[in-house]
Amino acid sequence: MNAAQTGPGTGRGAPLISRSGADLRYSSYDVLVIGGGIAGLTAAVGAAHRWHVGLITKGDLDETATFLAQGGIAAAIGDYDSPELHLKDTLEAGVGLCDDDAVRVLVEEGPARVQELEAMGTKFDRRDGKLILASEGAHSVPRVVRAGGDATGSVVASALAQAIYSGTRVELHENEFVIDLLVDAGRCVGALSLDRDGELTVTLARAVVLACGGAGQVFAHTTNPLVATGDGQAMAYRAGAVMRDMEFMQFHPTAFYGTENPTLLLTEALRGEGAYLRDDAGGRFMVGSHPRAELAPRDVVVRHIKRVFDRDGTDHVWLDARHLECGFLRERFPTVFNGLKARGYDLCTQLIPIAPASHYFIGGALTDTWGRTTIPGLYACGETASTGIHGANRLASNSLLEGLVFGDRTVRELNRYLSVSDPAVRKVKLDLADEPRKGNDPAVVAEKRAALALLMSDLCGIVRDRDGLQKAADEIEAMKASLAAPGLDVAELELFNLLTVAEHMVASAVMREESRGVHLRSDFPERDDEDWRRHVLLELDADTGEQKVYTIPVGQRGSAAREGS
Ligand SMILES: Cc1cc2nc3c(=O)[nH]c(=O)nc-3n(C[C@H](O)[C@H](O)[C@H](O)COP(=O)(O)OP(=O)(O)OC[C@H]3O[C@@H](n4cnc5c(N)ncnc54)[C@H](O)[C@@H]3O)c2cc1C
Repeated sequence: MNAAQTGPGTGRGAPLISRSGADLRYSSYDVLVIGGGIAGLTAAVGAAHRWHVGLITKGDLDETATFLAQGGIAAAIGDYDSPELHLKDTLEAGVGLCDDDAVRVLVEEGPARVQELEAMGTKFDRRDGKLILASEGAHSVPRVVRAGGDATGSVVASALAQAIYSGTRVELHENEFVIDLLVDAGRCVGALSLDRDGELTVTLARAVVLACGGAGQVFAHTTNPLVATGDGQAMAYRAGAVMRDMEFMQFHPTAFYGTENPTLLLTEALRGEGAYLRDDAGGRFMVGSHPRAELAPRDVVVRHIKRVFDRDGTDHVWLDARHLECGFLRERFPTVFNGLKARGYDLCTQLIPIAPASHYFIGGALTDTWGRTTIPGLYACGETASTGIHGANRLASNSLLEGLVFGDRTVRELNRYLSVSDPAVRKVKLDLADEPRKGNDPAVVAEKRAALALLMSDLCGIVRDRDGLQKAADEIEAMKASLAAPGLDVAELELFNLLTVAEHMVASAVMREESRGVHLRSDFPERDDEDWRRHVLLELDADTGEQKVYTIPVGQRGSAAREGS
């Protein structure tokens, strides 16, 4: 056990302690934000108005799900729209499991956040001076603002990044991997990270915002960037935070069919503009399956695609945009059009092979509507958090909005918390091995990561059942047992995080004995409102070190949840 003594610093400072020839470095901030997607950038830019902020991202600032986002941001700003209607659509898509208060916050505060983003320099697409609003699945009116046609994420992320570069009090540390959160006397006081030179750094902070995105890489076919390895969820769990709804991984119905990692998304807005889904025989299988046909909620479309797979013995179906005007397609969907061209497909003249891919992780660290997790000093926002706005199935284009709204609310709460909390953290105890661990052979790590992704796609993917989930749990356990403790190596640390998140998904999926939203159990095919309008919670038992899995009714945060800092 090493005791480390620091004083309040203004960034990277002198070596902190010596350990096995490697000096630990330290830095100290009021607020440490981990993650540079829409949620982390919103929180960092906002917090920097009052506080000294450190921002750590494990890759470059453009290696995020945010940067890849195509369709846009949902916000009730149209003439025929209202927050009430957006609320209704979100609750309906969430299949009875949304937190109504959180959704109300989202839809009521969303329009102002989108306007602020525009005022910061985001150029949303306009026609005749008015914002263009796109249609997407399960939205009852056109509601999705977009930028650069289908390049919304990169335009938004660039505007936020520009705010970071242009003189805010944010110190940006790219290509630095946060290994774990530091918790002292039950309060989060910083994080331990590994920089690009392999140096360990201790960052002390009065408050930490976890905004590490999702975990799509747990599965073999995913739209998520390589960095989406569930690090935020895994480290929140290890720190003792309560996790919620870990069984819910949303699969996007229309990802390009193939073996690339990540695969190219074919945005839902394509169907919003009139593209069809077809089976091998050319039939539009969504017509007659749901009143909104191709624009049914995502979980419904995925289920129907799976039915076609089972019926026809295939593993892909087709997206058809050939009846739409080619010039329009090229201009409206440049990312998709050029992405397909690079893969040898012409969106204007050819059917495009598609298959569902893991896309958005609904589960995460339980938060209230102010971003507070169950650990004082630890906040979470964006895809790492479980605010309860998505229920059992996320409404399209609500997640960029979530990052904006709850990133902003986290800042407002931080302003309150930091005005009343203790001043800078001065001391922290680190529990590190004296010698760096040897770790595992890189080839074995790569092989296990691939095997885990295939296992999860096979047994805990779109369709699950008890036997398969039990087998998945056993195999994950065996994989863990076959590995030595990780060394100071990002690929290894990611693998351990992936295994942790996979284990949590499986344990929660076993628990939920019904089918709801994105969770489809072939052995419990019906939705069961009587017994299952409940959340599955999961946490590390501090006394036994064991994993606890239990349920609470919708609308409650659980006895473990903290109400205030
Ligand atoms: C292809 C695609 C298209 C999408 N289209 C849309 C859309 O049109 N509309 C919509 O609303 N949503 C869309 N989504 C979903 C949406 O983009 C994401 O849910 C959202 O951007 C997540 O933002 P975030 O800030 O939580 O995380 P991200 O944007 O994923 O950022 C995560 C950050 O955390 C950092 N990080 C992770 N682990 C660590 C670690 N250990 N140490 C340090 N840093 C770490 C990463 O480096 C990164 O900076 C799309 C997603 C994808 C993949």
